[in-house]
Amino acid sequence: MRVIVIGAGLGGLTLAHGLRRAGIDVAVYERDAASGRPQGVSLHVDERGRSALRACLPPAHVAMVEATTGGPREQTLTLSDSDGELAVTDARPSDGVAGRARPGRQVHRPLLKAVLLTDLDDVVRFGAEFTRFEQRADGTVRAWFADGRTDTADILVGADGIGSAVRRRYLPDVRVVDTGRRMIMGATPLRAAVGTGLPGLIGHSPASAHIRGTTMVLAVLRFTESPLTARRRWLPALRRTAAAEVEDYVMWALPVTRESLGAATLSRRARELTAELPPALRTVVGEAWPDMTVELRTGSIPPPEPWPVRPVTLLGDAIHLAPGFGGNLAMQDARHLCEALTEAHRGRLGLLEAIGAYEDTMRRNGFTKAGR
Ligand SMILES: Cc1cc2nc3c(=O)[nH]c(=O)nc-3n(C[C@H](O)[C@H](O)[C@H](O)COP(=O)(O)OP(=O)(O)OC[C@H]3O[C@@H](n4cnc5c(N)ncnc54)[C@H](O)[C@@H]3O)c2cc1C
Repeated sequence: MRVIVIGAGLGGLTLAHGLRRAGIDVAVYERDAASGRPQGVSLHVDERGRSALRACLPPAHVAMVEATTGGPREQTLTLSDSDGELAVTDARPSDGVAGRARPGRQVHRPLLKAVLLTDLDDVVRFGAEFTRFEQRADGTVRAWFADGRTDTADILVGADGIGSAVRRRYLPDVRVVDTGRRMIMGATPLRAAVGTGLPGLIGHSPASAHIRGTTMVLAVLRFTESPLTARRRWLPALRRTAAAEVEDYVMWALPVTRESLGAATLSRRARELTAELPPALRTVVGEAWPDMTVELRTGSIPPPEPWPVRPVTLLGDAIHLAPGFGGNLAMQDARHLCEALTEAHRGRLGLLEAIGAYEDTMRRNGFTKAGR
C-alpha cells in the first residue's frame, strides 16, 4: 500500500510516523520550505493528543516529547485586579465538562514539530504545493503539485490545514466560515516576568484575566527537563537548534475582533490593548519576543453530510476546526486513520471499508459539541 499525505503539520506527520512503523509506504508533501513559518508557540495537549503520539511515534520520539512538556494542568484560574495587584478569584477543574478544557500539559510547538520531523527526511518533501488530484481507472489517485511534479498512490490524505486544497477539490461544498474572531498570541521569556509575581501565582495552570473590558489568557511553560538534556538522552537525531533555542516562557493571548485589530503591528496593538491592565500583565506583553507574536484566525466548518467513500480522505483542520484543541483532534484523527489503514494493509479490511470506518469516527469526534 502507498499513501500520499498533503501537509507536514501535526496530523500529517503523526500519520506518517504511524504508517511507516506499520510498514506502509508513505510520502508527505509540504508547501512550505523546511524552515517553516511561525504557527504559534505552545499547545495544550490532552490525552487525545498524547495517546495518538504514543500510538504512532517511535518510543524515543515519545520520550522526547514527554520529557519536555510543562507540568500538569488540572485547573483553569480566573485572575482579577485587587488594587493594582493580580489575585486568583476562581479556580475551575479542567475536566472537559461544560465547555471546559480537558486536563493536559503544554508543549512547545516548534519543538514538537521538530521532533515530528526527526527521522522523516526520506518521507517529507518540502516546497511541494499540492494543486489537484485525479482518481484513475485502476483505483489509484494521482496528485499534482505547483512545480509540475506528480505522484500516484492507493490513497490521498488531505492533512493540509484550514485552507485545505484537497478539501476544496474533493468536497467543494464544505465551507470555512470566518467567525470574525481573532487572537493575538505571544510569548515572553520567563526570566523577564519572574519579578512580577505572576509565575508563582498561577503555577502550571492556564489563567484568564478579565479586567476593564480586556480579556487576557496566560500560562507558564516550564520545561520538565531542559530540551538540550532531553535531546542528548532521548533523541540525538533531533535538530540541535530546535532544542537549544528554547527557554521557559509565559505564553499569552488576547482575544480581539477582526475590526479591532487595526493597522498597527501585532506587538503594538497588544501593548495598546493592555495599557490599562495591572503592571504584571503589561510587563508580560511589553517584554514579549516580537517575532513570536502571531495572529490566530478563528473559523468554523459546519458539519457536512457524510460523503461517499473514495480513496481520498481528510484529517484535522482540513475538515473540522476546534479552537484550542484542533491539534489534539488532528493527532487523534491521524491515529485512527493509521489504525484503519494498517488493518487494510494486513488484509483484515478492504481499503474503502477502512477509510469509511475512519471517516465515521472522525466525524463523531470532530463535529460533536461535546468534543472539547
Ligand atoms: C496560535 C495557535 C494556538 C493553538 N493552540 C492550540 C492548543 O493549545 N491545542 C490544540 O490542540 N490546538 C491548538 N491550535 C490549533 C492547532 O494548531 C491546529 O488545530 C492544528 O495545527 C491542526 O493540525 P493539522 O495537521 O490539521 O494542520 P496544520 O498543523 O495547520 O498543518 C497543515 C500543513 O499543510 C500545509 N499545506 C497547506 N496547504 C498545502 C498545499 N496546498 N500543499 C502542501 N502542503 C500544504 C501547511 O503548510 C501546514 O504545514 C492552535 C492554533 C494556533 C494557530
